[in-house]
Amino acid sequence: MKMKNIQQKHPKDVIMLIVDVLDIYSGFMKGLSELIGKMKVIILVNKIDLMPKSVKLHHIEDATRMMAANQGLNVIGVYLISAKSKKNIETVLKKIDKLRYSKYSRKTNFDNCYVVGCASVGKSTFINSVKEICSGDNLTPITTSDQFQTTLDMIKVELGDKFFIVDTPGIINQHSFSAYLNYESVKMVTPKSFLKVRTYQLNNKQTLFLGGLVRLDFEEGDNISVSCFVSNTLYIHRTKLENALELYENQKYKLLVPPLEEEYNRLGKLKEHIIMIPDNENFYDLIIPGIGFMHIRGNDLKIKLTMSEKVDYQLLKSIL
Ligand code: GDP
Repeated sequence: MKMKNIQQKHPKDVIMLIVDVLDIYSGFMKGLSELIGKMKVIILVNKIDLMPKSVKLHHIEDATRMMAANQGLNVIGVYLISAKSKKNIETVLKKIDKLRYSKYSRKTNFDNCYVVGCASVGKSTFINSVKEICSGDNLTPITTSDQFQTTLDMIKVELGDKFFIVDTPGIINQHSFSAYLNYESVKMVTPKSFLKVRTYQLNNKQTLFLGGLVRLDFEEGDNISVSCFVSNTLYIHRTKLENALELYENQKYKLLVPPLEEEYNRLGKLKEHIIMIPDNENFYDLIIPGIGFMHIRGNDLKIKLTMSEKVDYQLLKSIL
């Protein structure tokens, strides 16, 4: 069954939209609200284990609610989870349980929960964690029976009691670096453990390279602060703007990796974007899908961003 039919046939079923904490914005895929209409949505902001302790998590929750409201989604809960470390998964399961059983009748309100999200947000990890939790304890009434049923476009996991979690195919974000990098490079740019945020105090006419994938020239402005919420294994190089081109030409595919040379064709041409930070008071997050985000503040900032023409960026007032 395709997603769009579910809305008509099982309008009471619940959608679990998983988004990546490093790129919540792209997690609200185009056309999602048409696909699911007014079905109930629980949003799971995943990979929360990556966030340093200093980050106030309720800000992330608020920002997520706002983005969901802008999309017109019928959100009934936002949870910050770590599928990997199983943080808050039980809370989510209890919420579903509560929704599922009518208080006064013995009937269930729905039997399916659809896990929806872009590729790599952690859907499989989430489902595996749910299975593990459910098989091991009595706290949640859902128990796994380890049955997989593969349909053309969805995988059903029965968690006992006629309750199914349905994995839907991840939607590949064509505007993300991860769509164009190979396994080795994706490994380098995907954060594994909690981020050691790297902060730079910059003057104008300085440049930051994120590997060889992203170049940020700080052309104008002062009092510039840039904190990089990116994988600890992604090499960041700071240099003077006047030296940047020469450095790039000498060091691409060497010091400035990824990309690797064989990825060159897939990434396509480089494109320049001029980014003005609209005020001097607030932090802004420059989100680069597949990489992470830069938390930026400065006076009268003008930045030139150079990266693959296939990748999109977003500049949002900071969610932190
Ligand atoms: P899917 O494509 O949505 O099914 O995503 P996967 O479950 O395959 O996960 C994609 C990548 O994200 C893998 O490298 C996972 O190990 C990683 N990942 C998934 N959940 C978490 C999490 O909660 N925290 C962290 N740090 N990484 C995660």
